[in-house]
Amino acid sequence: MNIPDSGYTDHHTHPSSRCRILTECDARAAATWDEARTMIAAHIVANPTRDLYVVHGWNQSTWGTPAQADLDALTDVGLVVINVSYHGALLNTAAAEKFPGTIGHLVSEKDFEELAIETLPKCDDLLVAIPKYHEYLSTLGVVSAHDMHVATMDQIDAYRELDRRGELAIDTTAFVNARLLDDPRLVEAVANPSPRFRVAGLKLFLDGAIGVHTAFVTEPYLDTHGHGMLRHSKDECVALIKKSLTLGLATPAIHAIGDAAVATVLDVYEELKADGHDTRGWRIEHCEMVRPNDIPRILALGAVPVMQPNFHWDLDHYGDRLGDNLRLINPFRPLLDAGVKILFGSDGMPEGPKVGIEYAMNRARFPEQQITLEETLIAYGITGLD
Ligand SMILES: [Zn+2]
Repeated sequence: MNIPDSGYTDHHTHPSSRCRILTECDARAAATWDEARTMIAAHIVANPTRDLYVVHGWNQSTWGTPAQADLDALTDVGLVVINVSYHGALLNTAAAEKFPGTIGHLVSEKDFEELAIETLPKCDDLLVAIPKYHEYLSTLGVVSAHDMHVATMDQIDAYRELDRRGELAIDTTAFVNARLLDDPRLVEAVANPSPRFRVAGLKLFLDGAIGVHTAFVTEPYLDTHGHGMLRHSKDECVALIKKSLTLGLATPAIHAIGDAAVATVLDVYEELKADGHDTRGWRIEHCEMVRPNDIPRILALGAVPVMQPNFHWDLDHYGDRLGDNLRLINPFRPLLDAGVKILFGSDGMPEGPKVGIEYAMNRARFPEQQITLEETLIAYGITGLD
């Protein structure tokens, strides 16, 4: 087939929050904690006046878990080392004093989310950082992006102002945190899309991530024996979605990584469908581990899994905790064969479609995880194919 020279839609990415990486310490390339420590020390020397240092890239399977004393030795001011999953972080003593919810020196899920929101760049900084980040995404062929966690009005204001100035290089569709639902400025933004920016739906985090053992799984993790966690009850999800729909947020998007979380999203959507709502197009973000008997349920709802082929990476790193259930990860083939529409996004790990395409075609471990180039490109929404 010919590949049109247009561009890709990244259906799950985070430009207005990950752009912070341009001014913070990007240690994602560090292969060991020793390498990361050297990068962090150099970043602190280069930026001596900050009152908080934020590091991106802690990968437990390659760095291990750095000790709190190691983090304390790097600086007297706050130091936050974010996990690659963006569902948790390690804090030094000074940071732990600033942000509640730290257990040991780990903060995760709701408490991490609050820390991440509190330390997000404000509108003026975003007006500089978003265009820079978009420039980088453009070089990767991305022409349209779904920003999957817009949690502050500063992010919305920055997008709208950039579009007003004609400086929004990438078409942007935003999905918002429930904390904004009571803000009247959100309703105004939803009702008034601009040429390249619109707010489309509510984003809920139903569970966490495999990397920090918070993805909600039916069978316990082999190493910790836990099942992960649900961050909202079914009733809470139903109530929040109903509220968002009345505000004009037409497309709910629920994060679900573990198989039990995916099944719970389906329970929620089925309840709302029985209540008369049209669930076609409602999204399941990641939909990473799927039990075969849930696939017909997804089809019946018309729900859309928004998946990350690059999460095949987990097959090589999480055998210790998932064992045979690795096979449940990213079942693209049976989903497509059943007639389910799937969409792909990078989740910024890394950005751009190229790595995902490589994983979907060539780095599957099981046949369920492998699809063709054409199927992959359609899921990336390349113009002219979907
Ligand atoms: Zn994400």
